[in-house]
Formats: sequence, C-alpha cells, structure tokens
Amino acid sequence: MQRAQHILESVFGYDAFRHSQAEIIEALLNGGDALTLMPTGGGKSLCYQIPALVREGCGVVVSPLIALMQDQVDALRQLGIRAAYLNSTLDAASARATEQALLAGELHMLYVAPERLLTERMLELLDRSAVSLFAIDEAHCVSQWGHDFRPEYQRLSVLHERFPTVPRIALTATADARTREEIIAQLQLQQAAVFVNSFDRPNIHYAISEGANPREQLWRFLEREHPEDAGIIYCLSRKKVEATAEWLTAKGRTALPYHAGLPADQRQTHQQRFLREEGVIVVATIAFGMGIDKPDVRFVAHLNLPKSIEAYYQETGRAGRDGLPANAWMAYGLQDIITLRQMVLGGEGAEQYKRIASNKLDAMLGLCELIACRRQALLAYFGETLSESCGNCDNCRTPPETWDGTETAQKALSCVYRSGQRFGVAYLVDVLLGKSDERIQRNGHDRISTFGIGEGLSGPEWRGVFRQLLAQGYLQTDLDGYGTLRLTEKCRPVLRSETTVQLRRQRKPEKVKKPRAAPAVDLDPLDQPLYEALRERRTTLAQEQGVPPYVIFHDSTLREMAALRPQSLRELHTVSGVGEQKLERYGEIFLAVIQNQDLEIPESAD
Ligand code: ADP
Ligand code: ZN
Repeated sequence: MQRAQHILESVFGYDAFRHSQAEIIEALLNGGDALTLMPTGGGKSLCYQIPALVREGCGVVVSPLIALMQDQVDALRQLGIRAAYLNSTLDAASARATEQALLAGELHMLYVAPERLLTERMLELLDRSAVSLFAIDEAHCVSQWGHDFRPEYQRLSVLHERFPTVPRIALTATADARTREEIIAQLQLQQAAVFVNSFDRPNIHYAISEGANPREQLWRFLEREHPEDAGIIYCLSRKKVEATAEWLTAKGRTALPYHAGLPADQRQTHQQRFLREEGVIVVATIAFGMGIDKPDVRFVAHLNLPKSIEAYYQETGRAGRDGLPANAWMAYGLQDIITLRQMVLGGEGAEQYKRIASNKLDAMLGLCELIACRRQALLAYFGETLSESCGNCDNCRTPPETWDGTETAQKALSCVYRSGQRFGVAYLVDVLLGKSDERIQRNGHDRISTFGIGEGLSGPEWRGVFRQLLAQGYLQTDLDGYGTLRLTEKCRPVLRSETTVQLRRQRKPEKVKKPRAAPAVDLDPLDQPLYEALRERRTTLAQEQGVPPYVIFHDSTLREMAALRPQSLRELHTVSGVGEQKLERYGEIFLAVIQNQDLEIPESAD
C-alpha cells in the first residue's frame, strides 16, 4: 500500500484516497476480486490504474467505449503511464505494434473492446503475456434489463475460467440492487469483495419545474446560470433534439445535435467537439453519454421526463465530475406523462416488463411532484438514507407551497366522468371553463353539471391540476394515442369526500441563485483574469497535441493555481492534480503565465 500511496502522489498529484479507493486497491493488491459501485465522478479509474502500476505485468481494461479509448489512453500518457488500446478503429500495423509491446512486457495498461478480447487470438496473446489484473468497466452492460446491454459482456466469465489467478475488478455507476446481482452472477464474482459507496453527488443542485413553455424556462436558466458553460440537454425524440439545437444556435450558443439517427462520423465529430472545445452544448437523446468522462460538464438539462429514476440519476450524473458546483435542471409537462405512459404501456412486450416499466415511471413522477427534499428521495430510491434535507435542491431552497385541492380535484374528476371518459385534457379544460364550442355542443357537454364550474382557475392552472392528478395516480391515460383520460380506483374516496388531495402551487418563474455548494477552491474576482489566462494557455497546448483540454489540467487544478500563485516548481507540485510528469512537461509553461500576470497586477491596482 505504500507504493500505492506514493503513486497517488507522484503520478496523479493527489494527496489522499477518496471513498473506498484504498480498500479496493488493497483487495486487488492481495490478489482478490472486487466489485465496485461508485457514482460517476467518484474516482473509479484509480481503483484499477494504481494496482496495475504496482503489480507486475499489464492491466487489461475491458470497456465498451471504443470512441473514447483514444482519449483515455492520451490522458494516461500525459501522466507518463505506458498505455495503449486495441479495438476495431486501429489499422493492422498499429494493432500489431501494440500486441508486440504487450508481449514484450512494455505496457502498464491496455484498453480492449470486449468483442476483441473474446477472440481466441487475443486470449492466446494474453496467455503468453503477464497480466496484472482485469478491469471490467461499465460492468452494468451485462444486464439485459438496462439500456446499455452488450451481449459480449455476458461471455466475460471466460476471464475467470481461463485466468483464475489474475485478480478482476468490475466497476459501475449503476446503483440498483438488481443490476448488482446480475453482475455478480454473470461475471462469476461470487468471491469478490463488494464495495458500495454512497451515491450522493453533493455538488449537483437538483431542480425540476413544471408548466408551460419549457424552452423559455431553459433559456432563462442558461442565461442566468450558464452563459458560457458546457452542458448536455436531453430530449426524448430526434426531431426535438434537432429543433432544440437549431434554436440554441440561432440564439448564439454553440449547440450540436446527437442521436442515433445521425451518420456515425457526424456523431463522432460532435462528441469530439464537445470534449475538445470549451463551452459546447450537446443536445441529445439517451444515445449520448455513457462513459463521457468530461469532468467540467456544468449542467445537464432535461427538456423531457426521463423514463425512470435510474435514467434520471445516470444522465444527471454526467454533470460536475470534477466536484465543482453543477446543475441538474429539468422542465416537464402534462404531455410528457401522456407520451411516456404510451411508450411504456403501448406496443408489444411482456406484461411483466410493462408493469416494471410502469412502476419505474410512477416513481419518477413521484420525484417530480415531490414537495420535500429531492436528494433525500433520490437516495432513498437507491436504498440510502440521508438524515437531513440537503439544502442544495429547489425544494430545499424554495419550499413549494401546497394547497387543499380536494374540491378542485372533485371538479376535474367529475368532469372526466360526466363526459364519458372519452376525452383528453384540452377538451376537459374547455368544458370546465364553460367554452361552448361546436364540438362541445354537438356532444351535449354544455349541458352537463360540470360545464363552466371551473372559472376559479385559468386554463394553464387546470392543466397543472390534471397533470398532478395523473402523476398522483387518480387518472390514467388510454393507449389510443389521443391522451384520453379515465378514472382509476383511487378516485372513489376523493369523489366521496372521504380523503383530501394536496396539490402543489405552480412556482413563479424561479430565480435560482448560484449553486451554494462551495467550489473546491473559491475564486477571488481578483484571480479571475489569471484563471482565464491559464485556461487560454491550456487550450493552446491541447490544440497543439490534439487532446481535450482537461487531459492537460482540470479546471479545479487551474483554479487552485490561480488562487495560490505558485512561484516555483516545488510550490506548483503541491497543487492537486499536478504529478511529476505534468510538472516536468508543463511546469515552466504555467509558471510563466503566473509570473506574467503578476507583473500586470500593480498597474491595474493603481
Ligand atoms: P469515475 O470513473 O468514477 O466517474 P473518475 O475515475 O473519472 O471517476 O474520477 C473522477 C475525477 O476525480 C477525476 O478527475 C479524477 O482524477 C479525480 N480523482 C479520483 N480520485 C481522486 C483522489 N483520490 N483525489 C483527488 N482527485 C481524484
Ligand atoms: Zn434538498
């Protein structure tokens, strides 16, 4: 473990292990297997990178993320680690050179795509090489139930059979118990030590808003909180992805679409630009995101409701890996509920599957309509208890007002009933508001008792009521594609006044303050120009080498530099994220930036 601690400091430039990193590393160094469940940004990679450097031989990392392997390997090389990868994007000559390096014992670490690893040729190559460990990254890909399922992952048990003495570590950021069980069973990890970390991401601020005009709300949010930051915006459909990207571009932001319908090379280009340029927004379907380990994604926005809390957690988790404050923001409306219910319950598929999916959607809606702390509810869903409310979510900062909506609910529900449970929300609201158009007259609904009894609320307010009644399970939608509403069993006690219905009042357009979680290093406005200068230098260096800027130094490292203003290499070395190799490569360059800036200070201070 001493070697491990030494490598942490000298190679990576960090002082201390986080979470259970130390225990995990120790388990592998003792030759055991491990299963690691840690949130995104928790620091999973160190758990196998350090043992691979300490142990004899090459660490083999299995990863489905072919498009990102080059960047991962580049990042390691910046640290002075001899890393390489093998996948289908390499030409034959480069692949052969890497294989030779492996056989010659020259590699610390090798990234391999699963289908490549499973070829007999590759397995034989490994037979003849010294392997220090196998790391199975994104291990949830073994799960048939998840959306990242990769059939090859289920055959990875061959590693255990063929290399029984080589330690294995499986890693994932997927939190649910079912996936965990599947990983253990499929990968034969019954003997493995299991490390479950807290899934809390304290630096992420959660906010969910409802109501009309999500796009306008999004724009206000971006202007107020992230006028220049990189982020991801998730939409449900390809069409909406493209429309939203166009709209943001017209507004002057760099926004790129990403969905499975775009040609592969365009997807690749957009991903590269997101990683390499500063301040790019990707507007995407769920096809985008797994393994994107860009540390400085400052916000993840949802313009539609995700299908489950698992999906919401995973998608929002892509924000703020560097530990600096980040926002998870979402706006959703009535139509989302109707569309998703249709997707989940309509179509082919086993009843059991539909029931699970439907329960997951209900849990997600519960989180949306929640009155209490979002983080507590989110963690509770994954079986974790947070004893106090978090202070860093919308409900904690501005507690929502509720009101006794029993009578209002009765009006809405009776209106559904009296009009024969054959209509959607727009029609029902018109009836409640007493709008006597031709269709309503033809149906005779201008003569039912609920016609015109809703004048106390506006149209949008009634839509909000219907949305909440749907979300709370008093109403359900038909699968006819028209969003027809019907009553559920749960309505009876309400209509008989045996129970009350609490509704939340629509929030005024929120004025969210800056995220409150303290940044790793709070930046004095006086240090801001130096920080900008350091970033600029980093951008040039990154462009020269064709690597993403964060591979050179993270924002958090540059912030610390700007605040501490180190004057020597020795002082620079104490900054978190500055290891020996980076000190040697970039030390003088960044010190020069700091010295230049210092020279300017007296002038501007006069
Ligand atoms: P994950 O793969 O779990 O999402 P990463 O391995 O990418 O997370 O780590 C997230 C960030 O935290 C990285 O920038 C990494 O360098 C940093 N990190 C990891 N471990 C430590 C540590 N012990 N001290 C400081 N920073 C760390
Ligand atoms: Zn909270």
